[in-house]
Amino acid sequence: MAAEAAKKLMLYPDPECRALTEALADRLSLKYENLLVTNGSDEILNFAFMAFCDADTPAVFPDITYGFYKVFADLNCVPYKEVPLKDDFTVDVDALIKQKGTIFIANPNAPTGLELPLSEIERIVASDKDRIVLVDEAYVDFGGESATVLISKYDNLIVTQTFSKSRSMAGARLGFGAACPEIIADLNTVKYSTNPYNINSMTMAAGQGVLADDEYTKENCKKIIKTREYTITELKKLGFGVLDSKTNFVFAKHPDMSGEKIYSKLRENGILVRHFGSARLCEYNRITIGAYEEMQTLIETLRRILNENCKD
Ligand SMILES: *Cc1c(COP(=O)(O)O)cnc(C)c1O
Repeated sequence: MAAEAAKKLMLYPDPECRALTEALADRLSLKYENLLVTNGSDEILNFAFMAFCDADTPAVFPDITYGFYKVFADLNCVPYKEVPLKDDFTVDVDALIKQKGTIFIANPNAPTGLELPLSEIERIVASDKDRIVLVDEAYVDFGGESATVLISKYDNLIVTQTFSKSRSMAGARLGFGAACPEIIADLNTVKYSTNPYNINSMTMAAGQGVLADDEYTKENCKKIIKTREYTITELKKLGFGVLDSKTNFVFAKHPDMSGEKIYSKLRENGILVRHFGSARLCEYNRITIGAYEEMQTLIETLRRILNENCKD
């Protein structure tokens, strides 16, 4: 489909993304007016910071979460307040609710992989109907429960999702936001003031193609979830503490070896995981779920590294 679209590159793409948006609305049981597709979900996140935060309406988000929220706040010169996660790395809902401003929550969260139950999301949204709450569901397809079902009930909720992860289309840059028609209209004002043709024709066609084969996406997610559960079981057998992941990565630490050392030893062996230097996260590593064979290699390599550590 993208190759066909490439034959018409002399034409501007449809600025309303009609066909793709309607396909998406159908998939999510929402209306065209509830949706705005964007150049990755990062674009709609930035639009939301532009539209719904200012000097009197700070951005509010957990201290450990998607790193770009801070970047968007700084870029748009809006103040932000970071609310610490609880000791078990779950989101402190009561502390969030007490803050004034627009709330941004990645659910499931990164890099912890933990999910806040839908009832807790609803409690945040319902706590103040004059406050906008954005739920960033980049990882929801890996076992999470989507808040899109709440959109007909609350006109202060925005849910964002992406085609980058569960639909393996990060290179195409496609994401979207779902909300009541008034919020979507506001976000469209930002879009038409910055980049009316934000989705290129090939990406639009590829998006329609992937939505037409939803079974493929579902099967793929199932496979990743299965590999994730295998990885968690094997990591635990090696003594790792692993958080309960609802994403395509796991967050793990080992009692006998520092997070930093595990990171460097894996790197020496050609395996890249993500290590964070901050005090609360430095014992952990975020490990992305790859193909089953890759995870077998990871486990065998870790087994060897830990054995060598015992002999030291
Ligand atoms: C990957 C990611 C995004 C951005 O995704 P794109 O659609 O590729 O821009 C946003 N939020 C979170 C939590 C992510 O992990």
